[in-house]
Amino acid sequence: MMQLFLPLNFLGFVYREMKGSLANIERMFNLLQAQPKVLDVPNAPELKVTRGEVKFDNVEFFYHPERPILERLTFAIKPLQKVAVVGHSGAGKSTLIKLLFRFYDVTGGAIKIDGQSIQGVSQQSLRKSIGIVPQDPVLFNASLLENVRYGRIDASDEDVDRAIQHAHLDDLISRLPEGKHTLVGERGLKLSGGEKQRVAIARTILKAPPILVFDEATSALDSHSEQKVLEAIKSLSATQTTLVIAHRLSTIVDADMIVVLENGAVVETGTHHQLLDRGGEYARLWKIQQQRQSR
Ligand code: ATP
Repeated sequence: MMQLFLPLNFLGFVYREMKGSLANIERMFNLLQAQPKVLDVPNAPELKVTRGEVKFDNVEFFYHPERPILERLTFAIKPLQKVAVVGHSGAGKSTLIKLLFRFYDVTGGAIKIDGQSIQGVSQQSLRKSIGIVPQDPVLFNASLLENVRYGRIDASDEDVDRAIQHAHLDDLISRLPEGKHTLVGERGLKLSGGEKQRVAIARTILKAPPILVFDEATSALDSHSEQKVLEAIKSLSATQTTLVIAHRLSTIVDADMIVVLENGAVVETGTHHQLLDRGGEYARLWKIQQQRQSR
């Protein structure tokens, strides 16, 4: 009897898992379907990432023709560089990410990866080459371990453990009732924003894409969690071309280049120190954030 029970019990587990995951996938799918259709060109070749250079070349974009969102946007992220995009709320930072993933097509100019326009390659190969750590990652109703493994389903246990370690999840796991086997997600243990971001970082470490996009959480994480997230991102960005959408300037002082967006256009580029010396929009944003922090 027990011999029959165990496999049946396992099947029940798999079914519940699938149902939970499918609900999440369905939600994502509905979200994607809500967007206008983005189609592959016939026989679209695969994107070939050799160096990892990302170029926004005179990019223009609108959601509705009467309201331009991005205008003649030009900047490049050289291979292995970390570039941060900053700007007021509504400047167009998240739109940039949506365009890089080709959830929408640019309405002018081109986004190129290693010289290939992303409109000319298959969407599947494009999305395989880019890893994103979103502001508020979705966790599936599964164990923390399985949530990390989702980055690369066929990863070995050793690889998953290494990703967990590099994402600085060890201290969290040591506090969980069943360690890395603890159920998380909507029906499991609720993780904080910073903890969820670290799970997403571990997934991305496993996926090991040549290009990384990190969407910093809008609201500040507690300082311990923030530090852990930043350390984890630092170890990832050392080996990948990285685009950071930043809300707190203190987190991107080490960026190779900072791009300042205003009303959908690039108004300044430079390193933190160059931009402070310039005394323009970035220096103004920096001053405001410093004053806010000292209050
Ligand atoms: P935040 O820092 O608040 O996240 P952001 O710089 O990321 O802002 P975006 O989200 O890119 O800004 O939005 C840029 C502009 O595009 C905003 O004016 C926004 O209202 C508009 N917008 C964003 N998404 C859509 C959409 N799906 N349809 C129409 N307009 C949109």
